[in-house]
Amino acid sequence: MKYNNSRRVFLKKSNALVIGAIASWSVISKIFASPLFSKTEMIKFEEGKFLLPVLPYTYDSLEPHIDKLTMEIHHSKHHQGYVNNLNKALETSDKSLLESPQALIKIFDNIINLPPAIRNNAGGHYNHSLFWIIMKPNGGGKPKGKLASTMDATWGSFDEFKKQFTDASLKHFGSGWVWLVVNKGKLAISATSNQDNPLMNMDSILIKGTPILALDIWEHAYYLKNQNRRAEYIASWWNVLNWEVVESLFTINVK
Ligand code: MN
Repeated sequence: MKYNNSRRVFLKKSNALVIGAIASWSVISKIFASPLFSKTEMIKFEEGKFLLPVLPYTYDSLEPHIDKLTMEIHHSKHHQGYVNNLNKALETSDKSLLESPQALIKIFDNIINLPPAIRNNAGGHYNHSLFWIIMKPNGGGKPKGKLASTMDATWGSFDEFKKQFTDASLKHFGSGWVWLVVNKGKLAISATSNQDNPLMNMDSILIKGTPILALDIWEHAYYLKNQNRRAEYIASWWNVLNWEVVESLFTINVK
């Protein structure tokens, strides 16, 4: 009962901020076109195919927080799988969806008209691409500047934000993602199942907006090192965060 109440309060608060507000597609195109993403080759698209982005660090460089084997399998097998399956699913789809770099934006905007294979794999490709760049070796700490002050205004303190984000990650049942979302300058924490994300234009996504922080809570993200201990994985993950990238994403959104 306690859980249900606190969850309802959480949803009510968050929804008051952003429910019903559709993500701004022009803002998202700006993000994809920004030097930040072209530099890391996020959402790389050539000759009608999506490509696996190159990581901006080596597989072992997030050790000891996230281990080399997990990173290698996660990137080269899981993420590559989403890319391959997305390209395959798109072979039989409307080719007007495929205009780089807006292809994913169009896909997410039209998601209710597309088959589940596209929803799952386009989500998988985008979600992982974001996940890689918001991490770095010797990361962690706290955000600065406008993001920090907006977090303080929203949650009271960074520690309270961290606590609520961690709680949302622990409470989410099954596979999915937890997000820090920005919409019209407001921040909210949200969780989605499977490979869905807050950019998808469909009713089941209660909090829509642009994700600026992503935590993968699929077991494949931590099972080799942490086994069933999701809390241990989440605690480690805060130590590899690249707050400079998260701050840049926030700034692009509020400009
Ligand atoms: Mn994953």
